[in-house]
Amino acid sequence: MVCLQCVFAACMKACPVNAISVDRSTGAVAVDYARCISCRACVAACPFGNMTWEEGAGRVIKCDLCGGNPACARYCPSGALAYEPVARSSRSEEKASGAV
Ligand code: SF4
Ligand code: SF4
Repeated sequence: MVCLQCVFAACMKACPVNAISVDRSTGAVAVDYARCISCRACVAACPFGNMTWEEGAGRVIKCDLCGGNPACARYCPSGALAYEPVARSSRSEEKASGAV
C-alpha cells in the first residue's frame, strides 16, 4: 500500500503544528521537518499505515513522490507504475464522494 497523497489527508489533519502540507509542484503530501516536533500523531492518524517512524533517523517518513520523479515508477520492470497528473475534475469527484 503506497501513500495515496489524500486530498483530505488524515496525517495532515492530525499534525498539531501544521508541519504537513501539499507540495503544489508534485502533489505530494509532504512533511516540513523544520516544523515537525516528532510527536508521531500522523503515524497514528494514517488509516493505511503509510506514515511511519524511522528509528534510525528519529523522524517520521512517508512517500514524498521523490520530488516529482518517483523511483518506484522509474524502476518498475513491467511499467505497471506510472507517475501521471491527476485531472482536477477527477480529484473533485473523489473529494465530493469522500473517497479520499
Ligand atoms: S500518509 Fe496516509 S493519510 Fe497521509 S496522505 Fe498518505 S495515505 Fe493519506
Ligand atoms: S510527527 Fe511531525 S509531521 Fe507528524 S504529526 Fe507530529 S509534528 Fe506533525
